Amino acid sequence: AKSAGGNRFEVADAEADARVITRNGLTTALPTALDRGEFFIEYQPLVHLGDGSVRGAEALVRWLHPQHGVLGPDRFIPLAEHTGLIVPLGRWVLEQSVRQARDWRERHAGPAAAPLRINVNLSPCQLTHPGLVQDTVDILEAAGVAPDALCLEVTESALIGADDDLLKPLRRLAEMGVDIALDDFGTGYSNLANLRRLPVSILKLDRSFTQSMQQFPADPVDLKIVEGIVSLAHSLDLAVTVEGVETAAQAEQLRILGCDTAQGWYYARPGPPERLHDLALADATP
Ligand code: C2E
Ligand code: CA
Ligand code: CA
Ligand code: CA
Repeated sequence: AKSAGGNRFEVADAEADARVITRNGLTTALPTALDRGEFFIEYQPLVHLGDGSVRGAEALVRWLHPQHGVLGPDRFIPLAEHTGLIVPLGRWVLEQSVRQARDWRERHAGPAAAPLRINVNLSPCQLTHPGLVQDTVDILEAAGVAPDALCLEVTESALIGADDDLLKPLRRLAEMGVDIALDDFGTGYSNLANLRRLPVSILKLDRSFTQSMQQFPADPVDLKIVEGIVSLAHSLDLAVTVEGVETAAQAEQLRILGCDTAQGWYYARPGPPERLHDLALADATP
């Protein structure tokens, strides 16, 4: 599964990462961590930049390691991709997240409340796994959640040079109503014209753009670039989400530039599912 859509540099990186983790002794514990119930998911709100309402959340996986404590995904996802655990782990994350979305939707169904959506990251290895579409359909059906409540995030680098075989499962999911977001957009040097070929409906602008909005006024060249991306995206009917928003000034600049949705510590750090429910309710209260 490691040939999955990645370039040689990514694979080399993953191997280097895997070596680091091996030295820390995580390799032996990882394959069985799923069975031991050591993974958990934090949710980070996605906020509408126009009115500040919570629209949904991104699911971010963590590993509660018995010796090392809570480990972030950067510590174990590369190893999970390397060993193939990412397929069952990714399926577990999807299942938990979709169930969580149903729970939010049931408890958060007031007239003022827009239904909360869930964003889940897909690794390139999951993209090439033949069970992806059926697993997703099964998980949505079992939870009684409509496909349009789900957004799958795929990194731009995973889709660079993607051929039709790689895009086919994403197209099927998109036709069903699942949103596909292009994650870390702007870091992969992809051909912008190529966007039309991809079954994506959301661009997730990489955090580096948000960081360059820290000073006020921001660097004029960066402003132009973001402005250009947003207008291109909107002309192609794509929504723009920004990540890594840490300050009010960033949020304001990005709102003025026309970005649609934002995510970042300024609004909330990733946290337990109950907190998202509280935040969404608080913001729906007049
Ligand atoms: P990502 O998809 O780009 O997720 C956003 C990352 O930015 C998260 O890091 C989040 O905690 C962090 N972040 C959010 N707001 C801010 C902010 O305001 N400032 C800063 N500096 N950082 C912020 P995290 O949770 O460590 O996840 C890292 C990466 O691990 C994710 O990057 C994603 O690529 C991957 N990942 C997480 N969960 C999963 C999963 O279930 N499956 C797969 N395949 N990958 C996952
Ligand atoms: Ca993501
Ligand atoms: Ca991202
Ligand atoms: Ca990122």
